[in-house]
Amino acid sequence: MRATIAAFLPALSEPKTEPTPPMRRLLPTARSFLTHSGQAAVMAGVAVLAMAAAPLSVAGDIPPADGYAKPEAPPVAAVAEPAGPVTRLIAFAEPVRGYAINSAFGMRRLPGAAARHHDGVDIAAPTGTSVYVAAEGRVLRTGYDAGGYGRFIEVAHPNGMSTLYGHLSRVDVASGERLVEGERIGLVGNTGRSTGPHLHFEVRRGDRQVNPTKVLGRDFEVEVATA
Ligand SMILES: [Zn+2]
Repeated sequence: MRATIAAFLPALSEPKTEPTPPMRRLLPTARSFLTHSGQAAVMAGVAVLAMAAAPLSVAGDIPPADGYAKPEAPPVAAVAEPAGPVTRLIAFAEPVRGYAINSAFGMRRLPGAAARHHDGVDIAAPTGTSVYVAAEGRVLRTGYDAGGYGRFIEVAHPNGMSTLYGHLSRVDVASGERLVEGERIGLVGNTGRSTGPHLHFEVRRGDRQVNPTKVLGRDFEVEVATA
């Protein structure tokens, strides 16, 4: 027993002194190389199959085997046109809230008078009822027309239209003043040629009156000044 161990131990302690045949040393390496080569070949085969199955965009960097030039994406065209005008919407709303139009736009016959064109709409409301600008804008002028509109306000809007508010009891804005949407500009009254408290409301495009009911409740696109 002891002799067997003694004989075995030196063999373990000095394995480097024992000459190793060249084939023994090379063989494991060669076998390992072959094994890995085989695996690599299998993996390469899988990769080729994957490439074949993959869409063109994924395999785009693989040089084509048949000599054809690989397809190129068309160049991205530069945006040469300047951006269009920046626009926004302005809304037109009823200048007197809670009271209906009681006299329409168009031809009408008043008692004891010849038929004539009504250039706006009338909204009957008690004297002192708030009058709001129909849309944002700038006060063109204010004034007093004893035989007609009475105390009135005229406002220019960014869409090119203007509005007129007549028979007012009070005017709360000045010529040139900028007005935001929904701003109160005066009070309903009975000034000028009027038979009872009401607002006479006109909408003009250019120098012609248009039917206010075609404008109220609508949005208009206006260009935003960029300079
Ligand atoms: Zn009127």
